[in-house]
Amino acid sequence: MELNEALAKLAELQKKLYAYSTADAALYLDGTTVAPKDTAEGRGVALGVLAGERHKLFSAPEVGELLDFLWGQKEALDQLHSRQVEELRRSYAQLTRIPADEYMEYAVLVNEADDVWHRAKERGDFELFRPVLEKLVAFNIKFAGYYDPSKAPYDALLNEYERGVDMKYLDEFFATLRERIVPLLHAIGEKEQPDDSFLRRHYPIEAQRKFSDYLMEILGLDRTHCAIGETEHPYTLNFNNKDVRITTHYHEDDVGNSMYSVIHEGGHAKYELGIRDEVQYTCLAGGVSMGVHESQSRFYENLIGRSLPFIQAIFPKMKEFFPEQLADVTAGQFYRAVNKVQPSLIRTEADELTYCLHIMVRYEVEKQLMVGTLAVKDVPETWNRLYKEYLGVDVPDDKRGCLQDSHWSGGAFGYFPSYALGSAYGAQMLKNMERDMDVWGPVSRGDLSGVSEWLKEKVHQYGGLLEPADVVKNACGQFDPTVFADYLEQKYTELYGL
Ligand code: ZN
Repeated sequence: MELNEALAKLAELQKKLYAYSTADAALYLDGTTVAPKDTAEGRGVALGVLAGERHKLFSAPEVGELLDFLWGQKEALDQLHSRQVEELRRSYAQLTRIPADEYMEYAVLVNEADDVWHRAKERGDFELFRPVLEKLVAFNIKFAGYYDPSKAPYDALLNEYERGVDMKYLDEFFATLRERIVPLLHAIGEKEQPDDSFLRRHYPIEAQRKFSDYLMEILGLDRTHCAIGETEHPYTLNFNNKDVRITTHYHEDDVGNSMYSVIHEGGHAKYELGIRDEVQYTCLAGGVSMGVHESQSRFYENLIGRSLPFIQAIFPKMKEFFPEQLADVTAGQFYRAVNKVQPSLIRTEADELTYCLHIMVRYEVEKQLMVGTLAVKDVPETWNRLYKEYLGVDVPDDKRGCLQDSHWSGGAFGYFPSYALGSAYGAQMLKNMERDMDVWGPVSRGDLSGVSEWLKEKVHQYGGLLEPADVVKNACGQFDPTVFADYLEQKYTELYGL
């Protein structure tokens, strides 16, 4: 085979894979936004066929031969192609190592688990979910061995979401954070809380929709390439770097909820839209890892969106959207309200400071499940004990406890730590950004273009062209979680007058 011919085959293969994932995503988008309620069955049939065809296409022996041939010519490949071959070889090895029957059995299990989890959560009935969770844990331990038999199962799973990260790394990372966050939390507990009751006045959905449009404009999201929809749980979906969708969920009695969802998902969208054309329709299109993705969404949500200069910049406009609701509120009061620290039960509603503690609980539980020191039946007890220990709250039921998140029912073990890592990466990016340019002058005027340009240059443009660790290094330098701890300490010391 000629090199050029092989490269043409490589491009063709990736374009086909792109077509499958586009069809998949379009059906998902439809199902979660505008599709009528009882229409899931037909989409399920189509999705099943697509998954089977995609599997057949990618696991074919010719693909293995093509990738081996190209790997043998590595010296002759440019960075773009050698990274593609490297990534595809990794996925191919993984996929072909999992026996086809186990792969299908697992797909059926995950599908069933979603339904069982929904029902169990609604009733707060962990026992209902327990047998499914037991199977999911067993499968993931087994699959971890296929992913990387040289690693401990949980390390192999962590590596799937953030390559290069393992338990040793995370134990240290979380210990550093806990040491700094817990005393801060205690000190805040002694202080008077700001009034945030105005956030829960009546905010009509129609006005909130207009506010979302305004926020997207401030974020610099080009509406000819990025649309917003409404779903039960907000998410970002990327077709390619010219077509990204975000969603939100409006609550009439909570203006901050959708506001920060839009800014968070907007940060994910900025990343996807900022990826260079060169990697489109290849396996390198799309954000490089969950941790780096979260660093971008959380950067916009917390570091920018919950900063005083940003709130001061948008507050006059907010008052136009919500004249009665915010008539007696100042930008300063709003800033304090959306940064109120309160240990709570639900991760997705947590404030910036206690958020990492929620992640630590999940990390501990997952780790023990995968190491084998915790039985599934004891998850609720351990969960509740850790919430008491880390956050000082009593968990009244499993609905607001270990059943609250959908990750495990979706088979995602090892995902949670990327949220906390993302926050820490972001804080370090901000520090470097402040060294390079005036961040807050323009932000206080509602101009986020400099911030966006910096992130695009250091992070977004590469997509998967660089390894996650290299993207982090590019934007953060040597990773140092104490930078995040310093940021939190400074912010909340000022806010609460500690
Ligand atoms: Zn996110």
